[in-house]
Amino acid sequence: MLFKDEVVTSVDRLSSTLFATSRFLHLHPELAYEEWESARYLTSVLKAHGFEVIERVGGLPTAFVAKAGVDHPSVTIAFLAEYDALPSLGHACGHNLIASSSIGAAMALLPFLAALRGQVQVIGCPAEEKGGGKIALVKAGLFANVDAALLVHPSNRTELFKGALAMRALQVEFFGKASHAAAAPHLGINALDAMILTFTNLNALRQQLRQDARIHGIITDGGRAPNIIPDYAAARFCIRALDLEYLHALHRRVLACFEAAAHATGATVAIHQEGEEYHPMKCNRALGALFQANLEALGERVEHTPEDQELGSTDVGNVSQVVPTIHPTIALTDRSEVVCHSAAFAEVAGGAAGDRAVLTAAKALAMTAADLFNCPEALQTVQQEFDQV
Ligand SMILES: [Zn+2]
Ligand SMILES: [Zn+2]
Repeated sequence: MLFKDEVVTSVDRLSSTLFATSRFLHLHPELAYEEWESARYLTSVLKAHGFEVIERVGGLPTAFVAKAGVDHPSVTIAFLAEYDALPSLGHACGHNLIASSSIGAAMALLPFLAALRGQVQVIGCPAEEKGGGKIALVKAGLFANVDAALLVHPSNRTELFKGALAMRALQVEFFGKASHAAAAPHLGINALDAMILTFTNLNALRQQLRQDARIHGIITDGGRAPNIIPDYAAARFCIRALDLEYLHALHRRVLACFEAAAHATGATVAIHQEGEEYHPMKCNRALGALFQANLEALGERVEHTPEDQELGSTDVGNVSQVVPTIHPTIALTDRSEVVCHSAAFAEVAGGAAGDRAVLTAAKALAMTAADLFNCPEALQTVQQEFDQV
């Protein structure tokens, strides 16, 4: 039996290490797939605390798995660490706090694992902001022997469950024929016109879509000079929906918009998928209920807001489809206008409020793992829900 006050004390003992970790990452923001310093720092802290670290897992140079506990555990809990930052904004999504709270929970549980016959893992997940590193880790089978996956994301609100939209990202290119725009327009094929028609087609399509669907994009190449008929145009799009079936239907209709534009202008079209397909979030209510009770025991108040509104996409969705997962958020400030992906959020994530969030999140995560280690019935309920939904 592992008592919660022992877990809390264990996290408190680690506080200086956790604050130093979070602040180091904050001062060294690195972009998706380039998190060299961050991964090095995190793995060295974990090694120093007795974790066995496997680096470069899933074919990703900045991914890792750190394990501690017994070799053939009855229960294995994984804490997910994210540590990539955003272009020009640094840690404006607060992933420094995710990494620090996840290693904090794992390290705090370490002294108790032998008696519990348990194992904890920190799975170092690169590239949440771009590319979806966890998708490669899921495909590599890293979650096959994990009973539950947990992480806490900083936010402007403390919330338990939030959906996530399935997503595909596409690049489209149109190839036309250059010509003098004044002297010989009749000899040209206008690739930019194909692109403009694409946006017009998509705008028409958008009126007939379900509320959860999203299509949005930018033109990345629209020609060279106004007196040359553009022979090349390119754009990037994201398409999203709450479930994969609708996403795939949407995908087919978006392709038709591209092809119709090519047909109308005489351009040829090339369509490329960018990165992996993001899956929707499968929220585990039983696991979330354990986490909520622990968070409230620590004096935090949970807000209940609509779960299917104001959604983005995350590669945690793919993890949640293969193992019981929670991805709750914790408020960094009581100023609700300070939202993720803003300079103000980055500043808060590197200060005292960030430190406080790390400690609270690490405690609630470790206490929730303690519930699963202590009580096989609790884990069974979590697993049953996962199997049924
Ligand atoms: Zn983000
Ligand atoms: Zn994030």
